[in-house]
Amino acid sequence: MKIDGNCHCGFITVEGDADPERVNICHCTDCQTRTGSAFGVSVQVAGPTFKMNGQPTTYLKTTADNGKPRIQAFCPKCGSQIYSTTPGEGQQPSYTVRVGLLKQRDQLIPKRQNWFRSSRNWVVSMDAIAKNEKQG
Ligand SMILES: [Zn+2]
Ligand SMILES: [Zn+2]
Repeated sequence: MKIDGNCHCGFITVEGDADPERVNICHCTDCQTRTGSAFGVSVQVAGPTFKMNGQPTTYLKTTADNGKPRIQAFCPKCGSQIYSTTPGEGQQPSYTVRVGLLKQRDQLIPKRQNWFRSSRNWVVSMDAIAKNEKQG
């Protein structure tokens, strides 16, 4: 499935071929910290198809929960999270792209929730939280 999108300020644009069966929610504590929120939602994009305009800032994070080093990329101007990938020179085999950037986000429905053991206990009962159609 073709995907495209941009960061909050528009400096970074991305496009590629995503696998809609590989849309994951991640409740790990690193994703909570990097998003400043309760969980991350990401989709796998095949490396050879992944194209980007604008140069993200990256850092190498050895994730606390699974011990694997990952490159984390974000917009240097607005701070939007763009992707994570494996460390190394040049194109990587795949990129884990943040679904919130993508115009196709309505069609990118999560298929699994990882690291559920560190999920916030209210995520399973969000329906019970008061809702406003716009700012409350
Ligand atoms: Zn930006
Ligand atoms: Zn995570």
